[in-house]
Parts: sequence; structure tokens; C-alpha cells
Amino acid sequence: MADIPPSRSRSTESLFSPGQSTPTSSVGDNSSDVHSHQTATTTPTTTPPNTPLTSLTHASLLSPSPQGSSTPLSLLTIGFGPASLAIAIALSDHLSSSPSSPSPPVLFLEKQPQFAWHSGMQLSGTHMQISFLKDLATPRDPTSPFTFLNYLSCKGRLQKFINLGTFLPARREYEDYMRWCAGHFGRAVRYGTEITRVDAVHNEGTGKVDRFNIHWIDTTTGAPGSATARNVVVATGGSPAVPTLFAPFTTGPDARFIHSSQYATTIPHLSTALLSPSTPQHLVVIGGGQSAAEIYVDLSTRFPESKITLLVKDTSLRPSDDSPFVNEIFDPDRVTPTFELAAKERAEKREKDKGTNYGVVRLELLERIYSELYAQEVDEADETRWRCKVLNSRTVVGVERLEEGKGVRLEVARTGVENGERECIEAGLVVFATGYVRDAHVRILDGTRGLLEAERASAVDAAPAAPVAEVEEAPVAVEAVEETAAVGTPVAETAIPVAVPPVVEAAEAAAAPAVEAETAAVPETTETVPETAADTAAAVVPETSTETTTTTNTDTTTAETTPAPAAAGAASVDEVKLTLEPTRPPAVFPVGRDYKVQYAEGAVEEGAGIWLQGCNEKTHGLSDTLLSILAHRGGEVVQSIFGPGASSK
Ligand SMILES: Cc1cc2nc3c(=O)[nH]c(=O)nc-3n(C[C@H](O)[C@H](O)[C@H](O)COP(=O)(O)OP(=O)(O)OC[C@H]3O[C@@H](n4cnc5c(N)ncnc54)[C@H](O)[C@@H]3O)c2cc1C
Repeated sequence: MADIPPSRSRSTESLFSPGQSTPTSSVGDNSSDVHSHQTATTTPTTTPPNTPLTSLTHASLLSPSPQGSSTPLSLLTIGFGPASLAIAIALSDHLSSSPSSPSPPVLFLEKQPQFAWHSGMQLSGTHMQISFLKDLATPRDPTSPFTFLNYLSCKGRLQKFINLGTFLPARREYEDYMRWCAGHFGRAVRYGTEITRVDAVHNEGTGKVDRFNIHWIDTTTGAPGSATARNVVVATGGSPAVPTLFAPFTTGPDARFIHSSQYATTIPHLSTALLSPSTPQHLVVIGGGQSAAEIYVDLSTRFPESKITLLVKDTSLRPSDDSPFVNEIFDPDRVTPTFELAAKERAEKREKDKGTNYGVVRLELLERIYSELYAQEVDEADETRWRCKVLNSRTVVGVERLEEGKGVRLEVARTGVENGERECIEAGLVVFATGYVRDAHVRILDGTRGLLEAERASAVDAAPAAPVAEVEEAPVAVEAVEETAAVGTPVAETAIPVAVPPVVEAAEAAAAPAVEAETAAVPETTETVPETAADTAAAVVPETSTETTTTTNTDTTTAETTPAPAAAGAASVDEVKLTLEPTRPPAVFPVGRDYKVQYAEGAVEEGAGIWLQGCNEKTHGLSDTLLSILAHRGGEVVQSIFGPGASSK
């Protein structure tokens, strides 16, 4: 157990009380800054650690706005995944060691019903890809009570874990560690809350923005709600990258295409249908990265009688490079030098280092797959009778639904070979591990785009383009596809070489689900197109909104009116997303080294702002989307928001 400095034990009463049911209704009950238009549901109980940290933490300092307070929240995070959790931990650690620090009211909002980390990829036998020593606290402060070792100690497994002799815990155990950490912040988290947009609010005296309204939909009831905060962190992680070719096949009762992010949560329900004799007993995985390889192995074990094929676009599956010298690129002290590089150099460096993370597989897994294929060949010389196959240099160029929704037919071409021989594969299931895009902030922050220098300049001058330098520096990580997948033209709608029978009608493609369609529609390079302030304001008001939005100069000011009746808020989250889908090119939200969005000078008051997490790979380096530097980064964000003395606004 970590030796905790005396200052950590000052708290006598903790609102964290690990394991207690989280009364999320308190979030909206009393504070005039948090408006929940319908009674909030109670968040499920989190896993209680064996030894509560109540004597070590300062829960009251991390609670939502005090009752009856009219001051905005000091901090609100959108998403409560590892990145936001690291911020909560850093803040808690800071407060624990600074007895004189005031208590900032904070709120963490998360759309999932409880804490969960990549639940669709929680497969048995999978392990972490970084050392447990890079947990959410140790690299910043090894004496923090939130270290992985302290978690093990509290769970009574420290000795046994040592006996395992590994640095790489099971993915499931690491998720449990993070859930255990999250459990300590229960009073400050509202689960089941999907944020749809953020609006800027102007101070009537200064004319500058001094707070933000954050709007959400309760994912259980559909009721809208909102809160006001001076500082907002957007840490929404990635959304599944769905190739446009696949989008029409991912929904509906007979959907046989699933993204890797939904694999573990979907496959148990599909099992019976997949084993039905009328379904092709052939399951296909598309992709060349870690997730694709893990799913291929899982399917081959789960369905021992089915044919399993892995389609890889590249000429071979490739190993990830986690050798010690290369691994230094993920060190926290590499972020600043990376940030200071010119955009072109950064892009070159990123390209060179990509083999550490994108489209690669851990060597042990590759060796396992290879040896199992070899054993299959020993048993059966006839290749056509092999149950499991890894087919390299393959690109899916067409998809067709089989009759009666029993599966799909894939048309597969040799990668890069035009008009060459094509093969057809009939599959009962296709799992595509095509990675993620990290552009959710662009949609969520659309209501603040009028505050950006580039947007203001174009509104005033009606100039045709933003300065070239800004476009090059664009930090919007829209193309962060984690895996090299065997799909013809990943996301561009116009360039899909669909061959034999016309499989994707234009109308069908257009009707693709909102998230996917959005994902597919965001171009890799970002161009800033001139627009008027009125456009900016109009685009952010959802049809279901009960607020009035006014524009002042180029800015958007939102004023709350009557709370929405529950019925008005009954629109599903997806419907709301559709109404919010931007019709203009996405804005670019440049960030500084401290991850703070750089709005036009003077637009936002000191002590207020928006921070972006996990979508800054282009400016901050490859570690940005990973866990590697979260402990440090959480501390940096806390410092940037609250200052070195952590004084709260
Ligand atoms: C299968 C898999 C394994 C991985 N393993 C590793 C590993 O071993 N090591 C490593 O360094 N990295 C790994 N990664 C990379 C991964 O990105 C990080 O582990 C980590 O999840 C990043 O944390 P995050 O908080 O930025 O994003 P996320 O984990 O994606 O969390 C974002 C959270 O925001 C929520 N959210 C999104 N939109 C909204 C909204 N509008 N309103 C409210 N909430 C919202 C989401 O529900 C989610 O909980 C892995 C990734 C995958 C897919």
C-alpha cells in the first residue's frame, strides 16, 4: 500500500463513499446551474473496493454545485472515460495535498449507464498493451491512492499479481481498476447523459464569453437537461469509423455487419442466428490491427465448426513495435517537443512512428495465429478444407445482402489491382475493425465556432479561405483510423468502387445512421469556408430545443427559457444527432500545448475555456489517444484550469 502523506488524511467525511449508489438526481435538484428537466435515474452501484479510500480523499471538493448556488460549475467534463477520470484523480490528489484549497464544484458527464471501458472489446485472454505502471496516477505521483498497485492492495490481490510476473494485466482487470477509481467520484458523475451541444454565454458587462451552457439528453428517458460551467473538457474518445460501403448493412433486424467496438456486447445475442443451418457458416473479420486479430481468434474459438476468414488489406499482418527505444515516443516529456515541431515535420514523424499503434498486432498474438494455421495445415493438406484463413492483400469492394436476411455476399479484390480477378465470399457475419474517428468535439462545439479567429475573419471579410498555416495546423484528428482495414476507399462516399450488382444505392447510403454517416462525411483535410454569424447560430439550434439563441456580432448567445416538457424531449438521441448534423464544413478548433481551445483573442474571459482531450494526435503526438500519458496529462489540465495553486473560479 502506498505510503500516503499526512496531508492526504485531512478529510473526515467523504462524499466519494466507494460503492454507494450514486444519487445522480442531486446533480439537477438544487443547483440553478444544472437543469435536469426530468427526474434523474439512479446510477448503478459501482464495484466497491475492499478498503474504502474515505480517509484519503476529499469528495466534498469534487461534488457538483453546492445547493442553491448560482455560480457556474468550475469544471464540467463531457465523457467520463479514462481521460476525464485521470483529470478527476489529478484534481483529487491535488486537493488532498493542499488543505487550504477551496472546493471547486465539478461535474463529469458520461453517456454510458455506468463506467465502462471499451466493453465491446472486453474479450477473455486479452491484455493491456502498456505497463500497469502507466496507470492513471503513478507516473504523476506514485504515492497517489489511485495507483494500480493500491487498487490491487485494496482488492487483496497484490501478492498474487506479483507472482504473475507481468507488466500487462488482463484488459478486464484494468477496466475493473478504472471502475474502482471511478467509483470514488460517484457523487460528481452523471451517467446516462449524452451531451449534444455546448453554447457560449456572454457576460453582459464585458461582452466576453465567461461561461458555457452544456446541453444533454438523458439516454434513459430522452429528457433534455443542461448545466453551466466556466471550464469544459471535451473527452469523448473515438467513434466507430464505418466505411460508407458498410453503413447500409449495420442496422436493421438482419444486420450482419458489426464494428469491432460492438463485438463482445453483440456476439452473444447473435450466436443462435449465426448457428442456424440456413445461415452461411462463414464468419469474416476485416482489418489488420490488434482488434481484428483478437476477434478472429475469438470467433475461431467461439464457433469451432464455422469457417473464419480474416481479410487483410496489407501484404501481411505486421507486429507492433514496443521495443524500449521506440517506446520513448510515448513518454510524457515527448509531448512538448512534438507540439513545437512544424506541422509538416510532425506529420512525417507521426507517419514514421505509426507502426507502434496503427494497423499492427502484438507479436505473441501473431505467433499464436501463425502456429494454429500451421497446425491446421499439418492435419489437412487440402487448402480448400481449411476452417481458418488469413487472406492478405484483399480489399472488399462490394457488399450485397443475401435473401431473407441470412447474411451478406462480399466481393473481394486484390488490393491495388484494378480489373483483376475477384472472389465472392458469402458470410453469416462480418466484423469490421476499421478503427475510430475522433471528431465528436467538432459537432458538440459547433455552437462556439463563431468565437474562432478563422471563423470571425471569414465572416467579416467573406474571404474565400482560412490562412493556409491554420489549415495545416488543424488539430482535428478526423482520420485517426486505428487499423488498416481491407475496405475499398475507407470513408469517401463518392469513390467507392462498387462492382457487380449495384449493392449500395445512393439513397440507401444517404439514409445511413447518423453517427456513421457523420463519421464518414468528415473530410481528412479541413477547409474553413466563410460563413455568416447568422449561419453559425442557426446551425446549432436543434429542432427539439426549447431555447432561444441570439447572435451578437459573430458570437452565439444562448438564453434558457422554459424547461422542455418531457414529451418534447422524447426524441431519441439519434434523432437529435440528425438535427445537429452540420451542413457546413467542420470547424477547426486549434488548441495550445495545454489542450485549451484557442478562440479569438479577447473572445473568452480569463478563467473560462474549453479543453480538448484525445483528439490532438496531430499536434501532441501519438500518445494523445492512448492511456500512456493520462496521469501526467490529467495533472496538466488541472493546472491549466485551476492554476498552479489550484484556485477555483
Ligand atoms: C480495444 C481497445 C484497447 C485499447 N487498449 C489500450 C491499451 O492497452 N493501452 C493504451 O494506451 N491505449 C489503449 N487503447 C486506446 C484507448 O483510446 C484508450 O485506452 C482510452 O480509452 C482513451 O480514453 P478516453 O477517455 O480518451 O476515450 P474513451 O475511452 O473512448 O472515453 C470517452 C468516453 O466519453 C463518452 N462519451 C462520448 N461521447 C459522449 C457524449 N456526447 N456525451 C457524454 N459522454 C460521451 C464515452 O461513452 C466514453 O466513456 C485501446 C483502445 C481500444 C479500442
